[in-house]
Amino acid sequence: MRYISTRGGINPIPFKETVLMGLAEDGGLILPDNIPQVSANTLYLWRGLSYSELAFEVLSLFADDIPGDDLKNLVEKAYSSFSHPEICPVVKKGDIWILELFHGPTLAFKDIALQFLGNLFEYLLIERKQKMNILGATSGDTGSAAIYGVRGRQNINIFILFPKGRVSPIQELQMTTVPDQNVFCLAIEGTFDDCQYIVKSIFNDLDFKKKYSLGAVNSINWARVLAQVVYYIWAYFRVIESEKVKEVRFSVPTGNFGDIFAGYLAKRIIGKGIERLVLATNENDILTRFVNKGDYSLGQVTSTISPSMDIQIASNFERYLYYLLNEEPSRVREAMEHFSQTGKLAFSAEEIAKVKKDFLSASISQKETLAMIASFYEKTGYVLDPHTAVGVAAGFKFKDERPMIALATAHPAKFPEAVKQAIGREPEKPESLKGLEEKPKRVKVLPAKIEKVKEFVAQNALI
Ligand SMILES: *Cc1c(COP(=O)(O)O)cnc(C)c1O
Repeated sequence: MRYISTRGGINPIPFKETVLMGLAEDGGLILPDNIPQVSANTLYLWRGLSYSELAFEVLSLFADDIPGDDLKNLVEKAYSSFSHPEICPVVKKGDIWILELFHGPTLAFKDIALQFLGNLFEYLLIERKQKMNILGATSGDTGSAAIYGVRGRQNINIFILFPKGRVSPIQELQMTTVPDQNVFCLAIEGTFDDCQYIVKSIFNDLDFKKKYSLGAVNSINWARVLAQVVYYIWAYFRVIESEKVKEVRFSVPTGNFGDIFAGYLAKRIIGKGIERLVLATNENDILTRFVNKGDYSLGQVTSTISPSMDIQIASNFERYLYYLLNEEPSRVREAMEHFSQTGKLAFSAEEIAKVKKDFLSASISQKETLAMIASFYEKTGYVLDPHTAVGVAAGFKFKDERPMIALATAHPAKFPEAVKQAIGREPEKPESLKGLEEKPKRVKVLPAKIEKVKEFVAQNALI
């Protein structure tokens, strides 16, 4: 398998190159040069596999330059950190199936990709005798999942900036109580935008970037998207077996389009089986307008109770655009240029019809989200986190005779305030969140100054 850029400007590269490259060098996103379709016979064989075994089979199709035994080890190690024996259990609650993606170490679905990516980074860096210093900014979920993905790994240090006093107490504790010496939490005296600006500026200093081998773990990394394909196929098997049906739908709470793009790939890999994907958004509804009306135009970012979906520019959208525009890189390049100049893209009736063959979409308000958490709890006794509730609410809007599988992207205990507002009490804490307050914290407070952060990175980087 070779990989190309959505903008057509790189020579085809093998899988391992994509992992360390992140963004393609021409500014595009990396995609495989073909999407393999597996036979009915293969699907039949895959049905009996455990999660890790299935992950190995799916990843093998794409990561064909890593020896099988090595890949198997990387996958097994990644999922051994999960607290549930099935890794991603699928449970039926009332009329809907819930795919629980929150049994990893930070209780959010990002662990599924980042536990794998951390191992993969370490493997490739050791093989190449290289070091890497990961630098990133977070307002919540991504930072802790990235830290847990690389904590204790060889040849990697990680520096995560977050706005001091402005991330949720649980998320801050998840980051700052990690004892590993390769982890550096930087509480910046400023806003999340300041943190992002500092990180961007440091990456733009190409000499500094090179000298300290700076790397990123953002959601556009191809290996991250790929690792997420597995649970769609996994859940599809569980539900068709149980319901004796041939087709399912998924509902996906969406921000950066990474998760749902993985669903789109899964749909193509298994052929028939995933009828459509429901793209669920909160009040930040650019992607819903895109699916329903072909209107992809930027709005203001609104802060909601599902903060990991408070996104206007979806960083993985360009991947789908490539397929929508008939795999023509020149058209993708043109569209992205147009978008960066005008903040809008419009699509033809024919293109909208094509989008609607793969997706359905609804935007769910905060009021509806809270009402969903409350009514779901009342009917089933099950507590949804606010992101999952957006997906469940959109899923119910498009529920027909086919089973609907809603992705549960975070454990409700990560968002106790919203849950309490909906059901009158806080959700129960899982083991991993108990006693966090008492653990020693490791955090460095720094002013929102590029030079101060650079100084700290230079003093603590692996070189
Ligand atoms: C990141 C995240 C999402 C959005 O996923 P995308 O891949 O960005 O679409 C949804 N829910 C939770 C809890 C998240 O952390």
